[in-house]
Amino acid sequence: MKEAYLTIDDGPSVDRIKKVEILKKYGIQAVWFSMGIDMEANADAAIRTILAGQVIGNHSYTHPNFSEISIAQCEEEIIRTDELIDKLYRQAGVQRPIKLFRFPYGNKGVNTGFFDTSYSESDRERIEAIQKILIQNGYGTYPFDNINFEYFKRMQATGQVDWLWTYDAMEWCVFQEDSPFGVRTIEDVLEMMDLDLPERWMGLNDPSSNEIIVIHDHPQTTDMFEPIIKAFLDKGIHFKRIVES
Ligand SMILES: [Zn+2]
Repeated sequence: MKEAYLTIDDGPSVDRIKKVEILKKYGIQAVWFSMGIDMEANADAAIRTILAGQVIGNHSYTHPNFSEISIAQCEEEIIRTDELIDKLYRQAGVQRPIKLFRFPYGNKGVNTGFFDTSYSESDRERIEAIQKILIQNGYGTYPFDNINFEYFKRMQATGQVDWLWTYDAMEWCVFQEDSPFGVRTIEDVLEMMDLDLPERWMGLNDPSSNEIIVIHDHPQTTDMFEPIIKAFLDKGIHFKRIVES
């Protein structure tokens, strides 16, 4: 059986609670990689996400491209958000179960491809400096179960602790002016799920590997949230819990 870890990036948006309720309906726990600036503005939604048994992850404070800022700024983005998440868990009266981080745009601090590990010496130094900040602040490797894509295993072997993904629902494309990949409608989003390109992050039909799926908490795509979740379930994908309660 295909299993997946569900991750939801950005926000909290004004529609966060609606989306949390949808996951509750299907009994799914996800990591909500949230932005510090939005959690500050919408603390109530972040707290209610926690109280619903969901996991809040760190997605930086202002969502910069980490290859375009200094290491000191990377540190500030990570720590400021980390401290805010601690505070929100305290306010919710819930012990923070785990520290998880996802880079904005999946950019680890250099401009190589997501899963490209052929770094130059200066790239390697920069990546290691940022990973060190994460590790020093309590972010560690996660015991992913049975994710077998070659690109993922190559990346995992580097010991990096941030979370990438193995399948992007691409629903964020529908409201971009120049839609990447020609994805413009919910039908396009659902069609992408049937592509058989397992080594190009489109391997939902490949039974030999589990997945880390990313969708977004964007207000522009709230109506697509439930149809997308249902489509994954209709494909027979079972969502794994991120942490045991
Ligand atoms: Zn993001």
